[in-house]
Amino acid sequence: MTRPAKVIIDLDALRHNLSRIRQFAPHSKIMAIVKADAYGHGIARIAAALTGVDGFGVACLEEACQLREAGIDKKILLLEGPYSVEEIPAIQQLRLDVVIHHQFQFTLLNDAVITSPINAWLKLDSGMHRLGFAATEIAASWAQLKQHEGVAGNIRLLSHLASANEPDSAMTKKQIELFSNVTKGFQAEKSLANSAGIIAWKECHLDWVRPGLMLYGVSPIDGNTADDFGLSPVMSLESELISIKNLKQGDPVGYGASWSCPEDMPIGIVAAGYGDGFPRHAGSGTTILVNGRSCSLVGRASMDMLTIDLRNYPGARIGDPVLLWGKELPVEVIARYADTIPYELLCGVHKRLEFIERGQPG
Ligand SMILES: *Cc1c(COP(=O)(O)O)cnc(C)c1O
Repeated sequence: MTRPAKVIIDLDALRHNLSRIRQFAPHSKIMAIVKADAYGHGIARIAAALTGVDGFGVACLEEACQLREAGIDKKILLLEGPYSVEEIPAIQQLRLDVVIHHQFQFTLLNDAVITSPINAWLKLDSGMHRLGFAATEIAASWAQLKQHEGVAGNIRLLSHLASANEPDSAMTKKQIELFSNVTKGFQAEKSLANSAGIIAWKECHLDWVRPGLMLYGVSPIDGNTADDFGLSPVMSLESELISIKNLKQGDPVGYGASWSCPEDMPIGIVAAGYGDGFPRHAGSGTTILVNGRSCSLVGRASMDMLTIDLRNYPGARIGDPVLLWGKELPVEVIARYADTIPYELLCGVHKRLEFIERGQPG
């Protein structure tokens, strides 16, 4: 591919982050969360490089299929469980674990022909009020699963934290306490921690941790970047300067002429835009690195191009490398400029970009 915009995926950084997760939660098994194409990084390459994990978590059957097709034979959990009875044959064939979070899924299990019992994870709604049974329903649901011929004997228990990214969140304390109280009497493996839980809430590590964001080298804690936790960004979004112009004071730049030069100045044009996943909401002033120097975006992002104030780097030349996010410019920072979260930026990276792997493959 000749277009200079590309995504670099650093597999050594990925494995480094996995080793950090082990240091944070040394007594827990690790279920790597690889939904949404491994947060935009490419599910097959990420899973292949994560030989050290104990399992993978995905959002749907298609993602699980991709993993099995890539030769992954570890445990795979469908985090939202089966959506319909039509999925049950594939779930058995692919040997997938499922989350059971709602009564309708019992009907679905009853209607299915099950020849090899399915591993189930019973989900408690501990306060997020998205998926899961209420605390008062857990004992009955557990019993229902235990009795079900189509369900394997070793049922597990899980819940999900809503606000673990906020240090000292009272809600997280409540959720951890509720999960602990409700599941106390059950002999089962238990799981509660996402990335933020792994870093900030030791008491929720339990038997399985479920890291997503931190695996990819991004801080799950508000106000921090990866560096603060010894994590290393896996993805870099890069391109090059494809043009430089010397404009006059008052010259407008880009769509809508929303920005004009405050003085005579050089403007650089970068081959990358919202069509690649760069957030259109990142406005003038957003930091962009040209050849490692801090410059800023001016005007509106276009589909394929960005315009940059080069006053800070008058020596810039066409072909200079541009970093939109990556090791030296955390995606957490760009997310803040764009009034979004790093998760959304990573997932939104467009598949038209060339993906280049660095480091040892799996
Ligand atoms: C996405 C997800 C995770 C991972 O969350 P991060 O914040 O990315 O670590 C863990 N558990 C469940 C159920 C999820 O849906």
